[in-house]
Amino acid sequence: MASVDASVARQSNDGKKERVVILGSGWAGYGFARTLDPKKYERIMISPRSYFVFTPLLAGTAVGTLEFRATLESVRRLGLDYFHQGWADDVDFARKTIRVEANTSDELGSTTTTKALKQGQPPNPSSGTNEVEPGRGAMFEVPYDKLVIAVGSYSQTFGIEGVKEHASFLRDVGDARKIRMKVLQNFERAALPTTADAERKKLLHFAIVGGGPTGIEFAAELHDLVREDLSKTYPGLMKDVAITVYDVAPKVLPMFDQTLATYAMETFKREGIAVKTEHHLQRIRPDEDCQGCLKLKIQEYGDEEVGAGIVVWSTGLMQNPLISRLGSKEFTMGESGASDNVVILQQDKRTGSLITDANLRVQVVPAGSKPTEKKETPESTTLPDVFTIGDCAVIPESGLPATAQVASQQATYLAKQLNKGLQDNSNKPFKFRNWGTMTYLGSWTAIHQSSADELKGWAAWVLWRTAYLTKSMSIRNKIMVPVYWAISWIFGRDISRF
Ligand SMILES: Cc1cc2nc3c(=O)[nH]c(=O)nc-3n(C[C@H](O)[C@H](O)[C@H](O)COP(=O)(O)OP(=O)(O)OC[C@H]3O[C@@H](n4cnc5c(N)ncnc54)[C@H](O)[C@@H]3O)c2cc1C
Repeated sequence: MASVDASVARQSNDGKKERVVILGSGWAGYGFARTLDPKKYERIMISPRSYFVFTPLLAGTAVGTLEFRATLESVRRLGLDYFHQGWADDVDFARKTIRVEANTSDELGSTTTTKALKQGQPPNPSSGTNEVEPGRGAMFEVPYDKLVIAVGSYSQTFGIEGVKEHASFLRDVGDARKIRMKVLQNFERAALPTTADAERKKLLHFAIVGGGPTGIEFAAELHDLVREDLSKTYPGLMKDVAITVYDVAPKVLPMFDQTLATYAMETFKREGIAVKTEHHLQRIRPDEDCQGCLKLKIQEYGDEEVGAGIVVWSTGLMQNPLISRLGSKEFTMGESGASDNVVILQQDKRTGSLITDANLRVQVVPAGSKPTEKKETPESTTLPDVFTIGDCAVIPESGLPATAQVASQQATYLAKQLNKGLQDNSNKPFKFRNWGTMTYLGSWTAIHQSSADELKGWAAWVLWRTAYLTKSMSIRNKIMVPVYWAISWIFGRDISRF
């Protein structure tokens, strides 16, 4: 990395405050930055987007129940010392420097596909100081005293043909906007007098791949949009509308116990949402006979392909390319530069996430150390001043899921620890407090499960809405979210395309 002659973003550190650099503006990064004491630390954030997204409400924005801005918080309002809109491209742990690629793209959608492809290719070191390679932003370096890695994860596509190119992801507000546009566009196309019956059926088949909470909630929100709003605008099209959830597993919503999962399936059945478990998608491709439609090849159906107007992909997580890159590089730890001090970051064998101790400090292992039969896990040590939180981090044997709950609690814990100035092993370990799991099922019903209780139906829906309202970050959104909910309830959802 040192060979890249990039300009260095100089910060006016007066020498009194330590410079804490935060990578990412999601649940973990944003939550950490807003809790870290600005009187004690200089707060610098690097993220390709200048806002935080309240992800649990994204499905609602994708169907017009909520306005997009009600789920966003600007990081500029945090009063950070510096915010760099860009991608952390590499970290030199020995020099305590981050290489950043500026993000000046207008692309609002998730970076699940394009950046994943781009980040596979390191910048050309011979490209010169500020020379920007085609398709890449300017490169510069940012030094740190303490580093918090909170870059989250990407959507897992399992290498299935056509998914990256043709499926719609729901991870960012730009994704939600694209999905809303596409759904409404399909209805307009289907309503044209020139649209043939077969074409109409394809345009109005909404396929969702992945039966976890996100896929199920999107299906439910979409069904609400169709039943409560579009049925009034396009009554003649209702007979052709179909919503299908596909999953490879024998059951959807695996994190819920059987009673609640069965309740969810019965609710979907009543509403006419099809759930196809043990279905293996093998390919998505454009439909040559229907403009804007897709064809899905599903193993269980042999050569017969299923037509769909949109495929929303929600199947699980893969590692952020930055984490993969950092995990594969060797570096020297400590001042001595001794060759026996060459280490690599310790990664979880299954997910590739960075392993931390119970204080969320990144762990390293000697370079070249491979797990043997006798010694499964090599002896790890702490990499000083580097922490990781959220979806890209894992505390071994904690069994913590990759959720906003975990990310935000880790963010608060770590910021509070640093505010107290505690740095040694006497730190209180991170303890996760499970508030329970919830999923919206449509038609004002939901399910909720925690160690204390289980709820289903309308009461769970009230709890679901109350929980998300109280967890909204700013007073502005605490006001805006219920106002938009009320507007959609009284006047209907926003079905304009712009
Ligand atoms: C639609 C949806 C609904 C969800 N609903 C729930 C729910 O109801 N309850 C729940 O608990 N969880 C939910 N989740 C999961 C939850 O959103 C994630 O677990 C959570 O976002 C993880 O937080 P994070 O900060 O680790 O990652 P993220 O929130 O994904 O943030 C990662 C940040 O890092 C930035 N970034 C990426 N690469 C780089 C880089 N190279 N350099 C710098 N910055 C980078 C990104 O732009 C982003 O700002 C949902 C997720 C989705 C997508």
